Amino acid sequence: MSINWDKEVDVLVVGSGAGGLFSALVAAKNHADVLIVEKDRLWGGTSATSGGGIWIPGSDQAKAAGFEDNLDDAFKYVRALSADNVPDENIRAFVDNAAPMLRWLTENTPVRYAAMPYPDYHAENPGGSAIGFRTHLPDTFDGKLLGDTLRTQRLPSPAASLFGFLQWTFAETYELLYRTKGWFTHLCINMARYAFDWPFRFTSKKDRRLTLGNALTGGLRHALTKRTCRCGCRPRSRNWCAKAMRSSVSSWKRRASLTAFAPARAWCWPPAGSTRIRRCATAIPRSIPRPRFRAA
Ligand SMILES: Cc1cc2nc3c(=O)[nH]c(=O)nc-3n(C[C@H](O)[C@H](O)[C@H](O)COP(=O)(O)OP(=O)(O)OC[C@H]3O[C@@H](n4cnc5c(N)ncnc54)[C@H](O)[C@@H]3O)c2cc1C
Repeated sequence: MSINWDKEVDVLVVGSGAGGLFSALVAAKNHADVLIVEKDRLWGGTSATSGGGIWIPGSDQAKAAGFEDNLDDAFKYVRALSADNVPDENIRAFVDNAAPMLRWLTENTPVRYAAMPYPDYHAENPGGSAIGFRTHLPDTFDGKLLGDTLRTQRLPSPAASLFGFLQWTFAETYELLYRTKGWFTHLCINMARYAFDWPFRFTSKKDRRLTLGNALTGGLRHALTKRTCRCGCRPRSRNWCAKAMRSSVSSWKRRASLTAFAPARAWCWPPAGSTRIRRCATAIPRSIPRPRFRAA
């Protein structure tokens, strides 16, 4: 019995978090037709709300910052913290390939990471780094480059947003907490930049200067658009996803009949700025309970 699928692709990616976007990008870079399906109305997953921090031993960024890492130390460190049933080969594969992965990311996307002087959580363990430079954080990303796609990106965590709306980096948080030289000017400039982001400001609360997980997923999403890799996100029913999954498998077997479709339109569902998205966006901060402080 022959089945006519709506779409056929080489690679079907389920979920539009950092894992999904990155996988889609690698597949697209290798000339595959890729489709990303996302069940949520907003793309980016938990990755968009996260700090976007990654633990990478021996990176080019750490080297540039003057830290010469040793991969055997990194292996020892991860080995001691991992469960016994995790094979050495898996840990070795991670330690050896983490830095090349970051290099690939830098060469193929606008996402930029910096190595931070942030100690390993168990720096006292064998192989731990007390001065850090294995934790990397993303630089800011200009969300304007995403156009209307930005409106359907998942919001950052309210905990990482100043006043609940201004996107903020770790370095800037440090500036504010310790009131380093120029902190007030920096804050005022950022507030003004946000307030005068016209006409976008009249239609959305979202800050278009993306930081942390929003910067990571935004940069990955932008790289996908730039590649016009025939990726799309089309939230539909579960049945559709299951059908698309089977379609993907069958298309591997019949590569000759692969089809492509316009990606940009598919990503913009539901239409940017729809009331449903706005309702969803404003519901997130409200659902976080207000902290209560009490004097001892
Ligand atoms: C506040 C916070 C801060 C964090 N900070 C860090 C950090 O700094 N560093 C770090 O390493 N980790 C951090 N984490 C953890 C990290 O965010 C997650 O481990 C990571 O984002 C997982 O990425 P992912 O791509 O696998 O999944 P996700 O980013 O969650 O993406 C999965 C996507 O798949 C979609 N999906 C699920 N099921 C289906 C389906 N059946 N069909 C279609 N789509 C589906 C989901 O809707 C979602 O969009 C943080 C987490 C939180 C909550």
